[in-house]
Amino acid sequence: MKSVRLLLFLLALLLLPGCGSPGADSPVRGEYPCRRELLAMDTIMTLTVYAQSEKDGQEILRQAAGCIQELEALLSVTEAGSEIYQANHSNGKPVSLSDEPRQLLAEALALCESTGGALDVTVYPVVRAWGFTTGEYRVPEAAELAGLLQKVDYTQAILEGDRLALPEGVELDLGAVAKGWTGDRLMALFRSAGVSSAIVELGGNVQALGAKPDGSPWRVAVQAPEGGYAGALEVVDKAVVTSGGYQRYFEQDGVAYCHIIDPSTGYPAESGLSSATIVADRGVQGDGLSTALFVMGRERAEAYWREHQDFDFILLGADGTAAITEGLEDSFSLYGKWEGCPLEVIRK
Ligand code: ADP
Ligand code: MG
Repeated sequence: MKSVRLLLFLLALLLLPGCGSPGADSPVRGEYPCRRELLAMDTIMTLTVYAQSEKDGQEILRQAAGCIQELEALLSVTEAGSEIYQANHSNGKPVSLSDEPRQLLAEALALCESTGGALDVTVYPVVRAWGFTTGEYRVPEAAELAGLLQKVDYTQAILEGDRLALPEGVELDLGAVAKGWTGDRLMALFRSAGVSSAIVELGGNVQALGAKPDGSPWRVAVQAPEGGYAGALEVVDKAVVTSGGYQRYFEQDGVAYCHIIDPSTGYPAESGLSSATIVADRGVQGDGLSTALFVMGRERAEAYWREHQDFDFILLGADGTAAITEGLEDSFSLYGKWEGCPLEVIRK
């Protein structure tokens, strides 16, 4: 299900006019489009850079793939060699983290705090109980969830310098922010390689460096929960990150259970949203907030935006309504089945 949606999404991205279109009969500086697809972090990733030569582009993409693999090896919650896995199996003893996991964890903990725990990087025991880590889905008993929730509390993860202490039973999962962080790393790598135009798609995360080589904005499709796409957004130098209940879920007795958990209940988030898309300068912020605002629902998400205002959002409601923040008014439009649906613009 997930990969079919991903493919549809990729197709939508390609079909949108002008997106990543390899132009040039006679390429000028920085205009050789090079593309690479890979499977990592449990999703399909597509990287496109405009380089000064085919050879340069391929080399940059090779480094980018290496960067993704390195991050996955450090951050994965399931790979026994990862620093996160080691921290989760430290039996309460402090462990030392290398730079990347330490910086990401520090950012993630700050987001957990600012979102009032709607994002909680210690929700892993609950995610596992629902079977989302293995695909062996089940609906846990309320009492089991209540027990597990006692171990869900990001304030229990104490990071001092490079030392991380997790009480026994508390487990970290950076799955809600790792792809956003990876996007930021890729943008930095491309920039330092002299690239000024690139776009990456890491599952539900799209991140663009600069504009298209002709100077026009990238056009990014926003997926519709029912398949296809609901809208299109024009961006330059932004991360566009979507969390949706339709991305990974299972059904039992006619009820759909999604992979984003409300840490205050232990149950899949049911906030009235089908998806939350964040448009931000940084991927890690976009990723953390897309998960958090999906949990929060429309009202709390709006309040959070008013308080912070350093990002924009597109919220698709399960009732077929949509809301965007004013920063997207000129760059976003509803498409397809969603065209003509009520679209509210939220202003300061
Ligand atoms: P995806 O990784 O599928 O693009 P998200 O960025 O929204 O989607 O992250 C969801 C993942 O994060 C889940 O698969 C789970 O591992 C973890 N998770 C679920 N709920 C939460 C939450 N409230 N806070 C932090 N992590 C969560
Ligand atoms: Mg996320």
